[in-house]
Amino acid sequence: MRDCLFCQISRGEIPSKKIYEDAYTFAFEDIDPKAPTHVLVIPKKHLAGLKEATADDAEIIGRCHLVAAKIAQDRKIEDSYRTVLNVGPGSGQSVFHLHVHLVGGRDLRWPPG
Ligand code: AMP
Ligand code: ZN
Repeated sequence: MRDCLFCQISRGEIPSKKIYEDAYTFAFEDIDPKAPTHVLVIPKKHLAGLKEATADDAEIIGRCHLVAAKIAQDRKIEDSYRTVLNVGPGSGQSVFHLHVHLVGGRDLRWPPG
């Protein structure tokens, strides 16, 4: 998608603090971090969100989570992190290109707000 912010970030057209990239996924620092680690992992292929996903997207959604797990391990927070998908405006989703939030590096309360 030409005008999608996260498509543009994954193509390098808009700068980001890249953490990881492979053929399918791209990970970068959240611009407004809510924890010492707050990384966004996105599919390179445009997908609006979990609500719009189909069975064909199962692999890429899994890949995004596995990349988050690898980054958590690299940062040595593997025993205390959370992966979050906000779905729809009522949950706070503001960018409509699916992204897994990797949040950690501080105490995480449950349930989330
Ligand atoms: P959500 O509210 O779940 O849609 O998450 C969108 C996230 O994208 C928020 O945490 C924002 O801080 C983050 N964000 C928005 N624009 C950028 C950007 N240009 N670079 C990095 N993160 C961004
Ligand atoms: Zn997109």
